[in-house]
Formats: sequence, structure tokens, C-alpha cells
Amino acid sequence: MPSALVFFTELADAPSKAQRELLTLAASIGEPTVAVASEVSQATAEQLASYGVAKLLVAPANHASFLEHSLSVLEAAVKQSAADVVLVANDNFNREVAARIAVRVEGSIVTDAINVSADLVVTKDELAGSYSAQAQATGGVLFVTLKPNSIEDAPQSAAAEVSINELAAETSAAEKVRIVGTEGKVVSDRPKLTEARVVVAGGRGVNGDFGAVEQLADALGGAVGASRAATDAGWISHDAQIGQTGVTVSPQVFISAGISGAIQQKAGMQTSKCIIAINKDVDAPVFEIADFGIVGDLAKVLPQAAEEIRRRQA
Ligand code: FAD
Repeated sequence: MPSALVFFTELADAPSKAQRELLTLAASIGEPTVAVASEVSQATAEQLASYGVAKLLVAPANHASFLEHSLSVLEAAVKQSAADVVLVANDNFNREVAARIAVRVEGSIVTDAINVSADLVVTKDELAGSYSAQAQATGGVLFVTLKPNSIEDAPQSAAAEVSINELAAETSAAEKVRIVGTEGKVVSDRPKLTEARVVVAGGRGVNGDFGAVEQLADALGGAVGASRAATDAGWISHDAQIGQTGVTVSPQVFISAGISGAIQQKAGMQTSKCIIAINKDVDAPVFEIADFGIVGDLAKVLPQAAEEIRRRQA
């Protein structure tokens, strides 16, 4: 049976949905080891047990840059665990860390994966979801970055004991950068885009004003997303971009407003359970994949929808 290592840069008291998906996948491959490049509370360690994790390797952050620290933690964890497969998140930071360590240990890497079988065959979507490809490493440790919302989060019922071990991770002596200060990002009260049950996304059609999109998202307790046209225009942060070169979302309800539905945009949302599209152009491609379509001006439709939802909630 292959052994799996899951690497996290951080692990909060409640592991995120994307992190739980990585743990579920690791448990389906073999008894997983988890390595974390920061401190982990006892309560969190106990939660890992319900995913069949037997061993936790921790290395609290030090004076080195977080990238240097993460690189040395992952390299040390790969060597100590002797894992066959290493699973990490699919964001830019983790992809860079995984790729660099894959090179250092002469392993292989597959990014944007949506599954890994017990015999280490990796599945990923190609060409914006038009094809599904299966890949197998031909040598070395296999590193895989997993797209969020790919795996059904399923903790195992029987929780075992997790042994917690401090990992001796040596940062490079040739380290050139030291962190002299850090400032946390402003955290929104809205749910995380990749984990939200409802996403309301706006495109070029919002014409610079995301107010109506945000109001509907807040009425529904959802997250706000955007097309690349909207993020490139600087109307909203790049973190909100959904699509081939943005994040992938798969909520229960996806509301698309003023987005044409280009293939690269659809690649990030077409697995949503229910898609509602609002567009003033009846021929917009987004209507081809929508479960419900409203042909109209979003500046009128969105506020009406938000008002009606608030009225029913009152
Ligand atoms: P448009 O295509 O301009 O559509 C705007 C829509 O709004 C139109 O359908 C219009 O009818 C409608 N509209 C206008 N006013 C209103 C109104 N008042 N009420 C209702 N509807 C209105 N795009 C992404 O989104 N995500 C990606 O990750 C991404 N990756 C890419 C990667 C590559 C390699 C390439 C080449 C492109 C990528 N793109 C991506 C860009 C993509 O091809 C489209 O250009 C982009 O999605 C268009 O955004 P949009 O639908 O908001 O704008």
C-alpha cells in the first residue's frame, strides 16, 4: 500500500474544506502523515485523527522567510516520512513549494489534479474541462496539487491516536532574505470563495460597480466572485477571479451576473450544482449551461432579488 504525506503551510483550529478534502484523499490512498509548517493546537491534531492520520510532523515558523521555511519543512517531511505521494493545496504558493521540492528530490509533479487513485493514477481536467486525463509518475516521489471541491469530505468514523513530532527543518545557510514584519490580510465576513455554498459572481456587465453583486451575496450568505474582465479592470481583487486561471468553485448555487460565459470562465464554475445566469444578451453562451436564465439588466434584477430574499427572511 502506498503511503501518503499531506503538507499544509498552516492548519487552523477548524481545517478548511479544501484541507479536509486533501485529508480525505490521503486516507483513501494509505495511512497518511501530515506535515505543517507552523504550530498546531492539540484540538486540531485530534481532528486529524478522524481522517486516519497517525503521524503529525510540525515545524513552527522561524525567522526565515515563510517560503524558505515551507521549502525546508516539506523537504524534511518527504525524507522522514518516505512517502510515495505528497498531496498539497493547489494555490500558487503551495504549487511553487511542491514543484521546487519535487525537483530537489528528483520526483514528479502533477498540478490541478481532481483525484488520485489508490494505485497513484492522477486524474486532471484538460482544456478547460473538455477532457479528463490520467497520469502516472514514471519515477521518484509523486507530488500532486489538488483542486478544491474535487473530493467529497468524508472523515473516517474510528478516530485513532495521532503522534505529534517536531520536525527538524534546516533553512538554507545561504538564506538571503529575512522577514522583518508581517501584516495580515483584511479578512472578509463572507465565506471563502472556494468553500461557499452560494457564489454570486459579476463580470464586465457590472460596469465597475460590484455593489449589487455584494448585496445579493450578503442576502444569501454567499461569497463574491468575478470574471477576469472584472478583475483585470481593477473593479475587484484578483483573488475573486473564477476560471481557468483563477479559482475553481463548485457551490450549491452559482449566480452569474453580467458574465458572457467564455470557456475559460466556465472552466471554474461549470460543476456548480445550480447555475442561475443574468445577462441582457439572450444569446450569451452562459445560458447554454444555466439551469435558470434571466434576460435582463443586472442593475435591476440583482437589487430586486436581494430585496425579495431579505423580505422573506424577515
Ligand atoms: P464579457 O465577455 O465582455 O461579457 C460581459 C457580459 O455582460 C456580456 O455577455 C453582456 O451581454 C453582459 N452585460 C453587459 N451589461 C449588462 C447588464 N447591465 N446586465 C446584464 N448583463 C450585462 N476569464 C475568466 O473569467 N476567468 C479565467 O480564469 C480566465 N482565464 C483565461 C485564460 C486564458 C488563457 C484566456 C485566453 C482567457 C481567459 N479568460 C478568463 C478570459 C475569458 O476568455 C473572457 O474574456 C472573460 O471571461 C470575459 O469576462 P466577462 O464575461 O465578464 O466579459
